[in-house]
Amino acid sequence: MLVGVVRRWAISALATGLLAAGCSAVPPQPGSAPSVAAVRPSGQTGSAASPVSSPSAQAPSESLRPSTKPVDDRSGKQLGHPFTVNGMVVVSAKHKVSAAYRPSVGAYGLTPAAGKAFAGLKRAIEKAGLRLYVVSSYRSHAAQQALYASKLASMGRAYTQKYVAVPGTSEHQTGLAVDLRSPGGRGTSFDNSREWRWLRAHAQNYGFVLRYPDGLTKVTGIGFEPWHWRYVGVEQAKAIRALGANMTIEQYLRLA
Ligand SMILES: [Zn+2]
Repeated sequence: MLVGVVRRWAISALATGLLAAGCSAVPPQPGSAPSVAAVRPSGQTGSAASPVSSPSAQAPSESLRPSTKPVDDRSGKQLGHPFTVNGMVVVSAKHKVSAAYRPSVGAYGLTPAAGKAFAGLKRAIEKAGLRLYVVSSYRSHAAQQALYASKLASMGRAYTQKYVAVPGTSEHQTGLAVDLRSPGGRGTSFDNSREWRWLRAHAQNYGFVLRYPDGLTKVTGIGFEPWHWRYVGVEQAKAIRALGANMTIEQYLRLA
């Protein structure tokens, strides 16, 4: 049983790597294991002075990190609001939110706070001579439902299960997540871009974290998505990033 599951997963991962749908089809790099040392501060944008490039120089606050595993005991109408740990929203297959949850969204299809933060990030990356484009941000429960059905039909079950969240489990319903591309990188090829390297070095300064790092599908439930960035606020983003380039929200909040 277990072997069957593992094998099915491996085949699924291989298929999705080759399909890379909706994006320019560059398969994920199989050798790119998660590594704290994988981050390369760009050095082109005055980042040398940033405390982020050497986390030990200034330890960010960890006060918002819970000391024990939080319990999600919402039920019924309570599912109309997302699971929240010390102010940080968590929406995933394990922490669903109902169709009733409709946050207010504005610029860039993000909540007012996330949109303002993203505007700052965008200004900064453009100042560094780079460009980012928003591919997708807020999606209602109904829109996620339509997307899921469409991907299932066009890309098949393996791809859809790996890359498209079941309605009620997508961060895009929160208005806190944004899918990005650069002029030369989209989808699985985005992580080859200079914009990606800039985000890896600086995004936390604007409150954003890489939500689904490479090699951590067992933790997040989602395959590597270099394009998907999540707003958590500057303080929490810096605290997450200080624990590792591939630290996940699940690990940070001790949910996994
Ligand atoms: Zn996304």
